[in-house]
Amino acid sequence: MFYSELDRFEEWRALLAPLLPGVHICRAQDVEDPASVHYALVWKPPQGFFGRYPRLKLLINLGAGVDSLVGRDDLPAVPITRICDPDMSRMMASYVLFAVLRYARDIPAFERAQRERRWHYLHPRVPSSIRVGVLGLGELGAYAALELARQGLDVRGWSRSEKHLAGVTCVSGMGNLAGFLASSDILVVMLPLTAQTRGLLNAERLALLPKGGCLINVSRGAVVDQQALTAALASRQIGQATLDVFDHEPLPPEDPLWALDNVLITPHMASIAIPATAAQQIADNILRLGRGEAVLHQVDPARGY
Ligand code: NDP
Repeated sequence: MFYSELDRFEEWRALLAPLLPGVHICRAQDVEDPASVHYALVWKPPQGFFGRYPRLKLLINLGAGVDSLVGRDDLPAVPITRICDPDMSRMMASYVLFAVLRYARDIPAFERAQRERRWHYLHPRVPSSIRVGVLGLGELGAYAALELARQGLDVRGWSRSEKHLAGVTCVSGMGNLAGFLASSDILVVMLPLTAQTRGLLNAERLALLPKGGCLINVSRGAVVDQQALTAALASRQIGQATLDVFDHEPLPPEDPLWALDNVLITPHMASIAIPATAAQQIADNILRLGRGEAVLHQVDPARGY
C-alpha cells in the first residue's frame, strides 16, 4: 500500500510490480480490506494513518529522512526501512558541491559586481586553505565529504560515532563540536533531525563560526535556530547561507530570509528518492522479510535515524 505527499504512484508501481510478482500494489485510498495490507510505502503520512492497518509487517519510508515517521504514536512495532541509494547520495553531493564551490570561488561577489557593471578581480583562494566542515557523515554526508575532499578543500567531518574517511579529518561527539564549528569557514549541515539535533545550531553555537563564514543547510530546518541564523546573516556575522530546508515549508512569503541578499533559497530539492534505482532495494527488503531474513537500511526509532 502506497501513500506519498508527492504521489508519483504510477511511476513507483510500474517499477515495483515486475520485481514483486504476486504482491498487489495500490494507493492507500484504494485499499478495500485494511487487514490485507502487509507493507506500507510511505512519505509523510498523516497522523493516525497506521492505526487502520492491523497486519503490517514492514514500513518503507520513501526517502532518506525519517523524522516525520519516527516518534509518532501510531507506529506499529514492525521494522522501518528508509532509502539509501547511491544515486540519491550523488544528487545530494552535486547540490553540496555547487553550494560549497560557489563560496570557495567567491561567486556571490562576482554576481553582485556584474549587477553593478563592475570589473571586480578577487584573487582565487587555494582550495586547501578553505576549511569545510560537514556535520553528519552518514549515507549522504560521507559521500558529499569525499567529493569535497576530491576538490582539494580542507574537509573535516563530525558525527556521533568515530569515522574514518580518506582525505577527511573526522571528529565525533559533542565535546568536539565547538572546536569544529570554530574551524569551519564553510559549514555544511547534513544531520538527521532527532531529539538530540533539534536546535543544535542555536545562537550560541552559530556565533562560534568564523566571522563572515558560510552555512549550507540541506538536512532539516529545525536543526538550526532559524531566527538566530536570520539575525546572524543580517549582521553579517555569518557571511552567506544556502538554505534548502526551513522551519516551515513552504517558507512563508513574509519570512525575513527572503529579503536577505546573502542568502540563496531553494525549495527542499537538494536530493530526492529516485524510483528507478530505489525500487530494487524496496523489493529486496520485501522479499527478504518473506524469507525470514533481516531487512537492510533499517531505522532505529529510539535513536531517531
Ligand atoms: P544517516 O542516518 O545515514 O547519517 C546521519 C549522520 O548524522 C551520521 O553520521 C550520524 O552519526 C550523524 N548524527 C546523527 N545524530 C548525531 C548527533 N546527535 N551528533 C553527531 N552526529 C550525529 O543520514 P543521511 O546521510 O542518509 O541523511 C541525512 C539527512 O539528510 C536526513 O536525515 C534528511 O533529514 C536529510 N535529507 C535532506 C534532503 C533534501 O533534499 N534536503 C534529501 C534527503 C535527506 P553516526 O554515523 O555516528 O551514526
